[in-house]
Order: sequence, then C-alpha cells, then structure tokens
Amino acid sequence: MKKWPRVPQTLTSNADEATRCISTEPGQAAPHARDQDLPTNKDQHDHFNFDPPDYVHDADEEHGPARAHVAAQPPIHDFNFRPVVLPDDQEDRPSLVPRAFQERPGVHLTYLNAVVGNVFGNHTVQAATESLNNQLNCMLVEGVLPEHPRPVRHLLSAKCRLGIDPDQWITQYAICSECWKHYTPVQLRELLSPSCTVPDCSGLLYDERVDAKGKIIRTAKKIMPHVSLIGSLRRMFMRPGFAKSIRDSRHDQPRRNDDEDFVMTDMHDSTLWHELEMNTIREIGELGTIRDCPQDNRPMAMKITEHCYGLHLILNINWMGILNNRPHSTGPIYYAINDLPQDQRYLQVNVICAAIMPGPKEPNVQQINHCLEPSSREVMELKNGVKMDINGKDEPANIFADNAILDCDMPASHKCNGTAGHSHDFHPCAFCDVDIVKVNTPEGYDNSWTPKDDYQMLRQSFYSRDATQARQDAILKDFGVRWSILNLISGWLPSKKSVLDFMHAIFLGIISHLFMRVLFGGYMLSGIGGINSPRRRFEEIINAVRWPSHITRLPKNLGENQSLKKADEWRRLLTVTPVVLWWSWRDENDEIPDKEPPLPPNTVQPDFSRNCRSLYQTILLLCTGVCILSSHTISMSQARIGQSFISHYCLESLQLRIPLTINHHASMHISEMIRKVGLVYAWWLFAFERFNSMLERVHHNEQINRIIKVQAQTRGSMMSQIAVYQSEAAEDNVRLPLRAAKFIDLRSHGPPGVFYTLLLEYCCRLWPQLRLVNDLSHDDGTPFLASKVARMLTYIRKDGIHYGCTMNRRTQSDSLGFISRNSTCVPVQIIGLFVVGILDVVPHICAVVRQLQCDDRIPDMPWTRYGSTLGIHVSYANEFGPYEIIPVSNIECPLALIPVHSAIIKKDLWIAVSFDHSGNEPEDLLDDDDFQ
Ligand SMILES: [Zn+2]
Ligand SMILES: [Zn+2]
Repeated sequence: MKKWPRVPQTLTSNADEATRCISTEPGQAAPHARDQDLPTNKDQHDHFNFDPPDYVHDADEEHGPARAHVAAQPPIHDFNFRPVVLPDDQEDRPSLVPRAFQERPGVHLTYLNAVVGNVFGNHTVQAATESLNNQLNCMLVEGVLPEHPRPVRHLLSAKCRLGIDPDQWITQYAICSECWKHYTPVQLRELLSPSCTVPDCSGLLYDERVDAKGKIIRTAKKIMPHVSLIGSLRRMFMRPGFAKSIRDSRHDQPRRNDDEDFVMTDMHDSTLWHELEMNTIREIGELGTIRDCPQDNRPMAMKITEHCYGLHLILNINWMGILNNRPHSTGPIYYAINDLPQDQRYLQVNVICAAIMPGPKEPNVQQINHCLEPSSREVMELKNGVKMDINGKDEPANIFADNAILDCDMPASHKCNGTAGHSHDFHPCAFCDVDIVKVNTPEGYDNSWTPKDDYQMLRQSFYSRDATQARQDAILKDFGVRWSILNLISGWLPSKKSVLDFMHAIFLGIISHLFMRVLFGGYMLSGIGGINSPRRRFEEIINAVRWPSHITRLPKNLGENQSLKKADEWRRLLTVTPVVLWWSWRDENDEIPDKEPPLPPNTVQPDFSRNCRSLYQTILLLCTGVCILSSHTISMSQARIGQSFISHYCLESLQLRIPLTINHHASMHISEMIRKVGLVYAWWLFAFERFNSMLERVHHNEQINRIIKVQAQTRGSMMSQIAVYQSEAAEDNVRLPLRAAKFIDLRSHGPPGVFYTLLLEYCCRLWPQLRLVNDLSHDDGTPFLASKVARMLTYIRKDGIHYGCTMNRRTQSDSLGFISRNSTCVPVQIIGLFVVGILDVVPHICAVVRQLQCDDRIPDMPWTRYGSTLGIHVSYANEFGPYEIIPVSNIECPLALIPVHSAIIKKDLWIAVSFDHSGNEPEDLLDDDDFQ
C-alpha cells in the first residue's frame, strides 16, 4: 500500500483539562486562562467593539504560525457569580406510577386479561370490557372485590390504569403561534388573554368559543405533544431487566483511547464518557464569565460514571415531511440512552421521543429553543439525580442523566447549539475558526485551524440572550453564536459536546457531491459510445451486483436517473464504487485510461479535470477513508489514518479543481469526534432516520398494541427457543430459526461421503473427551450416529445479519460471506448450517463451507493496493476449494458479489465486496419466516 504523507493531526491536547471551569473555591472568581482575551471591564462589553474575532487561547502555540497571535491581555477577575436563571414553568403531568400497581394483584390481573384478550385474542373493545366486568363480578360475589381504589370497568380505563394508554403520557402543550413558547393545559385555561407572554412577541395562543351550555371553550392555535423524559425513564426502569441492561461504568478506566492503539468497541471507550459532571450549578459572573460549580460547597463535582445509574443521553433533532409532496415538515426530538448495549440502544422501545415540533416550516432558533425547554429542564433535574422505582428492587434508586452529545445533521446542529449557519462567512464550522473561503483552499484541510473556544461561545451566547435584535445580529456576525437553551444546562459546552452526523456529512454530503457534481455533473458517465458507453456499463454492472438480502436494491436505471435519496443507498454505492468505476471506464486492456472521456455535444466543459485515472486515484482515497472511519471497531491511530485519507481526498480534489463544500471541511473533525464520543458506528443517525419512517406510518393506538404484541412474541420465542442451544448461541450473538430444527441423516445429504466424515473429524477435535467413533465401525468409544447428531438449519442470524446456505431448498440467498482465517478474511460459499450435539455436551453450531478460489494468475486491479482495507477480494467465477467445517463464530460479514469478465486472462471473475456489518440496524428482530 502506498504510504500517504500524514496530514498533521491535532493530537489529544490537554486543553480540555486546562480549561475546565470548576473552581475549587466556590464563590471565588475562577482564575481561568480563557478569560485572558475577554473584555477587561464592563464598559467594553457593553459597547461591543466588533473587531474581527481575534480571541486566541492558550493552545494556540500548538497550531502553528498560521494565526496572528494577539498579545494576551491581563486576566480579568469576574465576580459576583450567580446561578443562571431558568424560564418559569409549571408542571402539569399525570402521576408516574401506573395506578394498577397500587391495586390488588387480582384486579391488576383482571385488567391484564382484558387487555391481552383485546390485543391478541381479537376481542372487540366491547367483548373485552364485558369479560373484564364478568371477572370483577366474580370477585364481587366472592366478597374479595376491593372498595378502594375502586376498580374500573371499561377496557380503555383499564389500559389507562395499567399505564399502557399512550395518550396518558403525552402532554399537549399549547404553543405560541409565533415563538412556540409552550403553555401547559392549566396555564391555557387560566391565561387572561390569548396574547403570548414572551416580550416583543405578537403571537396568539388560543381561540375562544362558547359551547351549547354557555361554557367558554379555549382551543389552542398550535399544539406540541410532549413526553416527559423523567416519566419515560420511570416507566423504563419499571420494565423487567431494563436496569440490569444499563451499563455500570463505575469501575471503568477513563481515557483509554489516550493509547493510540486501544481498540474502541463502543461509546464508553471514548473520552467524554467519563468527564460528565453531576450536581453542578452553572453560574454567570458580572462580566459574563460562565462557570460550573459543585453544589452545596462540595470540593469536587461527582462524575456521572461514579453513579450506578448515570445515563449518557444523545439528543437528536431532525425534520421530515409527513405529507407527501407538500412542504409540511415536523421535527421529532429524540433522546437515546447510550448506556444500553448497542443492539438495544436504538430499539423503538428504548428511545424517548420527547416532543414533536409542529410545522409547517422548519422552526427558527427561537422556536427550537422553546421546544427544547421542557426536556432541557428535565435534564437539569436529572443531573441532580431523581429517585425512581426499579423493577425487582425494594428501594428506589437515584437515576442521573446528562445530555452527553447533540447529534444532528449540520443545519439542525447549528440551530440547536446556537452556532451560526453553515454558510456563514466567518463561522461556518461549529468546531473551528475556519472561514468560508478556506473551504476551497488547502488551509481548510491541513489542520491549521484553531478549535472553537466553548467558554467564549457560552459568554457570547448569554449576551445574545438578553440583547436587542441588532445586537444579537452583531454577536452572530462577529462570534458566530446565538442564544441556545441548552447553554443553561450545567456542564453543557456547545462545540465540544456536539458531533456532526457522519451519515449526513459523508453519505448525503461528500458521496452525493462526488456522484452528482463530479461524476454525473462532469459527464464522466455519459452515454457516448452506445452500448459500450460508460453509462451503459455503469448501469449494467450496478444491476449485476448480487447484494446481501438485508441490503435493499439500488434503482435499476441509476445511470439515467442519477439520483439517490437515502444515505444508505449512497453508502451502498460507495462500497462498490472502486469496482464499478473501473468497469465503466476501463479500456480494452482492463486499465483506466489516463485521459478525459469525450464530452457530450452541446455541453459546457466543467472547470475541473475530467482525467479518468487521476479521478479514480482520488476517489479510492475517499472509499478507503470512509471504510476505515465507519468500521465497527476502531483505534485512535486507525481513526487518524482514516481521517488522513479523507484529508488527502479533499486536497487531491482541490488539485483537480473540484469545488468543495462545508461538509468536506467538517469531515476533518471526525477523528476528533471519535476520540470524544467513540466510533462513528455507534452514533451515526441511521437508527434515528428509521424512527422517522416509523413515525410517518404511525397510527397511534394501533402502534402501541403492535409494540406489546412484538414484545410478547419475542419473549415467548425466547422461552421456546430450544434451551440447549442457548448458552453458546448467546455468546457469539447468533440467533437460530425459531422452528425446531430436524435431525438429518448425514450420509444421505450433500455430496456422497463428505458430510459425515468431515463432521466426525470436526467433532473429534471439538470434544476429544467423548472419544467419538464412526457408527459403522466396531471401535470402542461413543458412536457418532449419522442420523442422530446433526440438525440442519436453513439460516442463522449473526450480529443481526441473515446467513443462508445452498442446502436450503427454498432460497440460496445470503449463502456467500467472508470468514476469518488466520487474521485475514476470505470469501466462502456456505453449503450447510448444522447444530451438532451428542450426549449431554452443549450443542455447537457450525457451517460447511467452500472457499472461492483465487491464485496469482488473477491480474492486479486498480484498487489492489487498498484491497484488504476496502474488503474487496477477486476470485474465479464458480470455482471452489474443498469442503471444510468452521464454527459459525468465524463468519465475519456478508458480501456483495460482482461478476465480471477479465479481458487479460479471458476468464469470468467474481469480485466479492465485504459488507462489514453495514446496514445492520436493529430493525427486524423477527423473521417473517418464523411466523408463517
Ligand atoms: Zn410568542
Ligand atoms: Zn472546522
């Protein structure tokens, strides 16, 4: 592999440590390095002197001479700190413990029976209500029906008492038509006038009418449904098993990724995980300095990881259209709990949809702030710990939580954290001081920038909060900051705790730009040449790809239609791009020509180079970088290498005069984000996008019934799942079909004489203590009975991904995959999947496979030097090695197969592209197969 010169990377600096603002002597001014460059007296910040932003901080020396160094001013001592003020609010929520839990078990059970009959037994509401009454009447006759609390007698009331009526948990806030400030239902009733109470807001809250009885009815003009964060957590902790699945981080060793080679597997391996502080108060000084102090004069703040239940929350906000072809968008506010295991974190039941922001247009900053207010208030409460009941525990426990990260696409992120828009001339990036011009110069990609100063941003944001519109505009222009409600939360840092979603920045940003702007827009895949044109070849090869079944297909006419909508489609396209572009551009010697393809008539030559070979080399850098960065485990040194590939892609693109966008620059911060919050794989927004499509389909009450049903089925299947398979299966994250597998006769299946011999040999090595012998021999030992040792499986699921086998008569899909062998990956065909078990040993799951054949005569391909990183493997078509048996734990990932013909050796080849777990979101827990 060619060694690319490394782009200098911002190494882990101790700046974070140095600038932490917790003072050990509360009440005293925080002697704080970052204050150096701030106004020295009140006068100065009252009359903003809007020179170009020139604040520097102490880490500047590390970032080279690129920036003019402003002479440090003497440190100011801010004084008279006071806690930041929260907007007033009134709580108006239902009691959190389902009332049925306070009723007698018999009554509780009666409610449950009625609900189960309705949900599963197809009983109508009336029938279920009748059966509820019958049961209650029986209790009455027996004299055991309690008088208090009086049992309810209607199905819907029973659901309510059980806490499974979703409407019960949703507060319908009335919100102002203009600024979206929320008002509780009680406030709505008691307000003296329909005018919004926010100063300078001309919005209205409700309409009034008089009903038939002469009563005045107020109807809110606009509604925001809201679900309490604390209430949701209470309900979650009362679910069996939920508290147990929360990661206890108390015995972690923090900052493990300071070791560049430490392999991170999840978010808790990141730096920020162990830094969040609880029980702190955010204070503001007379001169605008923001600091966070431990409460109650404690010398030190407690870390979130010192608590058994310290939840790290992801906040995500986005917009989606809910009405087809109409510009009506709504925006859900989601909180996910990072402390749950990866495979449970993004399950629908574990993600809290705190609110749905109304449309029809995307909210402005003030509106978002108002929408975020109720849940931010709850986060502040949770930072001090909230006592909650826990299923199976006698005593309630303190539950802590914090906004660990804000994880959105770029526009939403900038709106939420109060930073300027991404097209702002001076502050387009929320993470550094790059300006919009540098996005198209090498300076945007060489790490010569200075990170944003969070405390400076906080200070300006608080100024902006109380400022006139003109001054807000000036602060935005000069400091790139606006007011954000999140800044009220102690410990919140707008730049440090924001991450840029990889999915939007890379797949919908950079990859889409590459195809739309450069490849299609630059006529690199034109129709000139008829059936041999690049466009035809492009379509032909895309349509020939045999994708794994969990990957939905790309459109058939991609060459013509040239647009993909979903991030997942771009991601899929990128994995096969090295092969696809080679096939589309190759000459008669299978080489990529060092020239520009002909320009279609009546088109304008684009400004950038159209040289196939240079473009191909450049694009390979991007493919490799994305492949490394989106890996499901990663070390910091790998992250920096991946980052370096992307930097070089951008720098080479600039060489080719390809215009770049803010997404390209923003992606320069990805390795730093990986350091802060862990591997991209754990926090990219694919899961949240999926929730949006669920929300789009939602039928409220039906939905909750469906959830109950799915859960019950999962649980039932778990129990019926043949208990003996479980211990091993659980270990490798392998799931088996739910139908009981049947024994097969090993001698009558597969090629004659192969399966029995191979499996006997394998089992002898696996269980030497059993002294297995051929069942037709007279040797001493345990006979390996041909028809009583192996059950055949039609498929398995490993890490949530489906693998089939060629022995399955119904479908051959997913019978190809990569397996690990001596620390490399090789492609195989899966012939059969077996559960073997003898006597009382724990059954074992294994696969019969054949390797796809390759040797040195296969010519080098243009991607060969990155082949192993890209996971692309070339073999002869339809040629296989000998049968062998492997444990299914060796199966690594599914693959896409691209059949091509080599002009050089005149043979058909198979190009196997690894799908390194991509597309593996916890979507369908259940196979349709299982419930037919
Ligand atoms: Zn208003
Ligand atoms: Zn930047």
